[in-house]
Order: sequence, then structure tokens, then C-alpha cells
Amino acid sequence: MKKKVLAIILLSALAASMITGCGCEHKWAKATCKEPKTCKLCGETEGEPLGHEWAEATCEKPKTCKRCGKESGEPLGHEWEEATCEKPKTCKRCGATEGEPLEHDWAPATPDTPKTCRICGATEGDPVSIEFLDVSFLNGGTWSFVINDDLCVKEYESPSNVWNYEFFDLSGNYLYGTELDCRMSNGHKGHSFTVTEDCYIMSMGIKNKTSTLSVYDYDHRLILEKEVKSGKLFGGQFPDMDDSNYNGCKRVFNDTTGDPLFYFNVNTGREVSEEEYIIAVENSQDTPAFYSEEKYGYCKKDNVTDLYLVSTPDRSRWGYADSDGNEIAMYMDASGFNESGYALVSSDGRTYDLIDTELNVVGNGIVQGNSAYLASTHGNLFKIDQADGSKIYLMVK
Ligand SMILES: [Zn+2]
Ligand SMILES: [Zn+2]
Ligand SMILES: [Zn+2]
Ligand SMILES: [Zn+2]
Repeated sequence: MKKKVLAIILLSALAASMITGCGCEHKWAKATCKEPKTCKLCGETEGEPLGHEWAEATCEKPKTCKRCGKESGEPLGHEWEEATCEKPKTCKRCGATEGEPLEHDWAPATPDTPKTCRICGATEGDPVSIEFLDVSFLNGGTWSFVINDDLCVKEYESPSNVWNYEFFDLSGNYLYGTELDCRMSNGHKGHSFTVTEDCYIMSMGIKNKTSTLSVYDYDHRLILEKEVKSGKLFGGQFPDMDDSNYNGCKRVFNDTTGDPLFYFNVNTGREVSEEEYIIAVENSQDTPAFYSEEKYGYCKKDNVTDLYLVSTPDRSRWGYADSDGNEIAMYMDASGFNESGYALVSSDGRTYDLIDTELNVVGNGIVQGNSAYLASTHGNLFKIDQADGSKIYLMVK
């Protein structure tokens, strides 16, 4: 009987060990994506594998299990939106960027439109402003000149041999006046008057005796005055100025000795040293290396662009050459570029187009002339002389 009991116990222990494996306390390993909870000792399992917990694919990573890192499929790849002037190339999905925003591609301002980006339509500044000036208050003078944006001068003789110079703003308001009184008994008294960038230069003298050279700034302040002997005369009565004009610097000769009396800059009206004059001569770009008379009758470096304003040898056509002297564009008439970067060109001498520094026409036929030619460009001012003697002044900004 005892034996039988033992046998039963043994059997049930055996049976128990067959059911529970190791018959010890299980040591469970947690369930994973692919394996259920499993006993490390006996291998017994419980429940089901967890299954992958997928994170959706992104631009740069495929569908990936958050738990075990298993990947499936391919990354989506970025969904690029092209770069704009404000934003670089950008992924619509994740916002990743590549490269830099585009540079604006500016189309120049025209009389109708401001400077406008060809890509994004952004604008900057204002349309080109063209203002025709009415300077009829200068009529009746023997000579008149619009000096700059806000100053002009009229010369008239009254009484006989007294030359009056009256300065006005462009609305015709009188600012100040001055005169050269050439009445005299002991010989002819000559005079000259000229305007430059920052000053005006007056000269008056007795032939073969003395002259006074006076330079005033445009606030009507005397900035240079010299007594000079009128020996060899320039234009009749003036102290002889060499007719070179190196970056504004001139020599003034005392008389026929040919010795320079002094040096000054006609644009500023200031006296310069001989050394400064020589440097100005050296830096002068009046005759570039490429210049030849056979090719160009006129050739001068433009003040605003890298171009040269040139004419054919007979001066019948005008236009622009590059810094190697190659013709870029020729017209019947052409001006230098003004401070705002515009020039006037005409293919028939009557109608003028406004061009920008890339020679694009930005204003078609803005001036209707009458056998006109461009007399001058000063600052933003263009002056057009017409065959009937009338003048057209326009400011272009
Ligand atoms: Zn176990
Ligand atoms: Zn997983
Ligand atoms: Zn993306
Ligand atoms: Zn843009």
C-alpha cells in the first residue's frame, strides 16, 4: 500500500513536471514583437507575440517598428517645393530645406512700373519718374543754363556791357544775382562765366593787363579768387587755362611764359597742388588704351556705368562701347547715364527712348523732338536742343 502511494506521488510529480516543464518557478522573458512571453528556463510561452508597432514612413525613414526598430518598405522621399525668392527649396511634408532662397531677378523700373522681380513679382521703389521742366522764366536771356536739380542761371546784358547773372530754383523763384560790370574807358574789358559741378567761375579783365578769376559755390560764397595777368588769352580775355581737363583739374597759365600760375579743380572750385594735378592727369581715363581716331570720333568713360560713350569718327552715330572698346549699341543719338542709371537714345533724332544701364528700353518714345540732339546730361537732368532753337529739359529719376 505504501509503495502504491509513493508510485502515485511519483507519477503525479512526473505528470506535473511534464505540464510545467522545469517544474520550478518560471523566469519569464517579456513578450516581443515576434515572440510571446517565454520562460527563459523551460521555454514555455504564454499569450501571443505583441506584433510590430509601426510608425508611418517619413521622408527620410521607412515604416519602422517603434519597439524593435524593424524597417519595412522605403522612405517616402521629400516632396520638394521649388525655391522662391523668400524661401529655399522646401519639403511640403517635413519642412526640410535645401540650398538658399533665389535671388530676386529684377526687371528695371519703367515709367509705368517700379523695379519688379520677374520671379515673385516683388517690387522695390517707384516707377521711373520723368518730369518735363518748364523753365520759361529763363527765356529772354542771352544765355541760360539749368545747373542741377534745383538751380539754374540766366545771363542778360543790362545796361550795355554789364552782364547780369540771376540764379533761380526750378520753380522760377529768384535766389540771388551777381554781375560783371565791363563798362570801362581804358580798353576792352572781357568776361567769361561758366558753371561746373559745384561752382561757377567768373572772369573779367582788361586785355593784356590783369584779370580777376573768381569762383563761387552754389551757396554764392566766394571760394577762390586770383589776380592773373592776361597775357596769352584764352577766348580773348581770360587767363590761359590749359584746355585739358583731367578729372576736373586744370592749370592756369599766367601769361605767354607757359608757366602755370596755379592749379585748381574746376568741378569743386578748390585749388589743388601741382602734385594733385599730376595724379589727376595720371588717373585720367579720357583716352582709354583702345582709343583710336579711326574708330571713334568721341570716346569718354561714362560716369555711372563701365561703358564708354562713343561716336563714329564723323559723329553721325552715337552709342556705347565696353571697356575693351567693342561697340555694344549705336544710335543716331545717345547720352551718358544719369545718376539714376538712365540714358536717352534716339534712332531717328526725333523720338527718344529711355534706356537702363543694361541698354533695355524702359520708356518708349518719351520725348518727341524736332531734329533734336542731346545737348547735355547733368545729374538727373537731360537737355535736348531742337532745330527751332527751343530746348526740352527733363529730369529722370
Ligand atoms: Zn519555465
Ligand atoms: Zn517590432
Ligand atoms: Zn520631407
Ligand atoms: Zn523675387
